Amino acid sequence: MYQNYIGGHWVNGSGNATFASINPANEDVVGQVARAEAADVEAAVESAYRAFDSWRLTPAPRRGEILYSVAQILKDRKEELSQLLTREMGKVISEARGDVQEAIDMAFFMAGEGRRLLGYTAPVELPNKFGMAVREPMGVCAIITPWNFPIAVPSWKIFPALIAGNTVVYKPSPETPILGIEFAKVFEEAGLPPGVMNVITAPGIEAGQALVRHAKVRAISFTGSTQTGTTIAGEAGKLGKKVALEMGGKNAITVVDDANFDLAVDAILWSAFGTTGQRCTACSRLILQKGIAPKLKEALVERTKKLRLGDGLLETTDVGPLINRAARDKVHEYVGIGQAEGARVLIGGKIHENGGKGFFYEPTLLDGVAPKMRVAQEEIFGPVLSMIEVGSLDEAIQVNNDSAYGLSSSIFTENVNAAFAAMRDLATGIVYINHGTTGAEIQFPFGGTRGTGNGHREAGQAGLEVFTEWKSIYIDFSGRLQRAQIDTDKLVNG
Ligand code: NAD
Repeated sequence: MYQNYIGGHWVNGSGNATFASINPANEDVVGQVARAEAADVEAAVESAYRAFDSWRLTPAPRRGEILYSVAQILKDRKEELSQLLTREMGKVISEARGDVQEAIDMAFFMAGEGRRLLGYTAPVELPNKFGMAVREPMGVCAIITPWNFPIAVPSWKIFPALIAGNTVVYKPSPETPILGIEFAKVFEEAGLPPGVMNVITAPGIEAGQALVRHAKVRAISFTGSTQTGTTIAGEAGKLGKKVALEMGGKNAITVVDDANFDLAVDAILWSAFGTTGQRCTACSRLILQKGIAPKLKEALVERTKKLRLGDGLLETTDVGPLINRAARDKVHEYVGIGQAEGARVLIGGKIHENGGKGFFYEPTLLDGVAPKMRVAQEEIFGPVLSMIEVGSLDEAIQVNNDSAYGLSSSIFTENVNAAFAAMRDLATGIVYINHGTTGAEIQFPFGGTRGTGNGHREAGQAGLEVFTEWKSIYIDFSGRLQRAQIDTDKLVNG
């Protein structure tokens, strides 16, 4: 049984209840996990609150050394964690290794911040006076994450929170609780003091709600669906908390007539069907200029046919399962909605039975999609690509931006003018040129516009903003009263 980690102790839920984590490839139980109740959330927040003072006073370079140890342990355990990740979440093993690698990269990056955490000084308006602005930690931070990147996404949040001097209560998705618990073991082994990072696991919404509503939680970093994110923001907003939201996407690749054809085909397949279409940056709309469209569709059908579905642990598998039965059924429902709206299934469009085990869906190409159809507007979060034809680059950009979401977009063109126009006009948080919609690196800000986010970014140095607030400090060493904005006049006028 996998226990929760509260105040440096491994504990059962206070009701002694458990829930199962299921392998989506074969429906085996990966493990039984402690089920946290409201009382356990209370204990976790209290332990984070108690640990805060000594952690914030620990020199940031020392905090960084602990993160370096975390990075090293993740490196040492990379293969074992990747295998577990595939079993618990389903993504193919090469991608699971990428998930863990992202956390390693982020740990090294944020460990380095332990010797930066840059503030600034600026000139002041009066003599014998000094001014500076420094970053201060927020206090107890709640980290709430989805299941699709069970190691990478929490690492984008927990590492910057800790390096800045905050303490954390982490609630992983109930679909991938074991990865959350194994992540906590890495921190424990790295020597993180008790209470600085706590993990609670629970199905349902009660534990997450209790965490969001707790008076001692000052900041909330959430990744998940737009519906959940906006609900959390509503509650937290009323309580005056800082909330950073990373939510849904409806990402598009545009291919104009002069594109590098083979490159575009490879990138579309990877972005649309990698992680079984369950990446927040997955390409779910393909915007094709009319000249290239027929040949490109034909090539995509041929290549999609060859994709092998199966257990992600087999190196021969290209596409793993969806996370659970409900997700698979939702994907199938959307294909039906698309057909009812007038779209045609070129390939796929069926549940893949896999001998009656697991939650597989055939990679699907929907042709004849119009920009306003539901399959072009709503997040499906599965291996379904909606193809939309356009006449020009301008129309492509307009279709790309006509979305409630704004995470990532991409364009394939060999024309430098078109590339620069796209960089300027594609209204998403991430833009790729001659690269699919997936593949962000941790040193740059990550996040989206419109319904994808609320103006915050993760990763890079921007990732520190959520977990710090500014303190401005003025030091007057003149020995007399100097009044800002009043006594400055005397200086100017002699
Ligand atoms: P979800 O919204 O169902 O759940 C996310 C987390 O919120 C889970 O831990 C869940 O237990 C918790 N939760 C649910 N209700 C809650 C409540 N009322 N209060 C507090 N916590 C609550 O999302 P999911 O199905 O786990 O993940 C898929 C979604 O995540 C997709 O929409 C995807 O686009 C999005 N996502 C976005 C990004 C990004 O960076 N923009 C990255 C990965 C995933």
